[in-house]
Amino acid sequence: MIRGSTELVAIVGAPIAQVKSPENFNTWFANHHRDVAMLPIDLHEAALDSFVGALRGWQNLRGCVVTVPYKQALAKRLDALSERAAALGSVNVVRRERDGRLLGDNVDGAGFLGAARKHGFLPAGKRALVIGCGGVGSAIAYALGEAGIASITLSDPSSERLGALCELLGTAFPGLTVHTAFNGLEGFDLLANASPVGMGSRAELPLSAALLATLLPETLVADVVTAPEITPLLNRARQVGCKIQTGPEMAFAQLGHLGAFMGVTPLEI
Ligand code: NAD
Repeated sequence: MIRGSTELVAIVGAPIAQVKSPENFNTWFANHHRDVAMLPIDLHEAALDSFVGALRGWQNLRGCVVTVPYKQALAKRLDALSERAAALGSVNVVRRERDGRLLGDNVDGAGFLGAARKHGFLPAGKRALVIGCGGVGSAIAYALGEAGIASITLSDPSSERLGALCELLGTAFPGLTVHTAFNGLEGFDLLANASPVGMGSRAELPLSAALLATLLPETLVADVVTAPEITPLLNRARQVGCKIQTGPEMAFAQLGHLGAFMGVTPLEI
C-alpha cells in the first residue's frame, strides 16, 4: 500500500515494462515492513532535463535506478559521481541527498563480481576474457581491474569501443595487462559474455565453434543476458562441465548495491 507517508524510489528507462527491479524491491520492502515503494518510469528522452529538475525537488524520493538508454545521458546531468561512475561515464543508480543534490554510481560491475564470488571466483591474479565492450562490459572490466585481476582480454567488433575500454583500463590500472587478441580459451579463469549475443530466441553464440572447442571445465563462464536465463553459451559451457553464472544472478546480486546506495536496503539482501 502506498500511503502519504511512503518514501519513494524509482527506476527510469525507455521502455520500462520489462524490468524486474520494481517487483524485486517492492517484495523486499513489503517482506521487511518498510514504508518505501519503487515506481517504474518510462521517460521520453525530450523530458530528461525536466526529469532531473524534478528529482532535485522531489522531497519524498530517496533515489532512482537508471537503465537503458539513460545511463550515460544522466551521468552528465548529476551533481557528483563515484570514481567508477566518473571513469565509466555512466550511472545505473542515483541518490537524492536531503538538500536535493543528486549523486550517481554504477554498480553493474559490483553485481557481476558479487555473483561470481558466490561461485568461488576470486579475481586477484586471475585471467579474464570479456566479450563486449559496451556499457556493461566496461563496468565488468573496471570492477575486475579494481579487484586485482592480473590480465583482461577484450573482444568487440567495434574497434572504437575496444580502443576506448583499453585506454580506460590502461589509465585506471597501470599494472593490469590488457590484450585484444586470443587464439584459444584454455588460459582463462573467467569468460564473461557482456554482449547481447544469445538474447532472445536466435540461439547465437558470441564465439566461434573452433574457439569454443578449446573451452576447459576449470573456466567460470558468465553471461549478462537475462532472457533466456540459460543462453546458448551457458548451455555449451555446462556441457563442457564449467561452472556457469547467469544474467539473472548478476541482476539479483546488484539489488543490495542499488538499494544501499539509495539508502533503502542493506548491502546484503
Ligand atoms: P551496449 O550496446 O552498450 O554494448 C554491447 C556491446 O556488445 C557493443 O559494444 C557491441 O559492439 C558488442 N557486441 C555485439 N556483438 C558482439 C560480438 N559478437 N562479440 C563481441 N562483442 C559484441 O549494451 P550494454 O548496455 O552493455 O548491455 C549488454 C547486455 O547486458 C544487454 O543484453 C543487456 O540486457 C545486458 N544487461 C544485463 C544486466 C544484468 O544485470 N544481468 C544489467 C545490464 C545489462
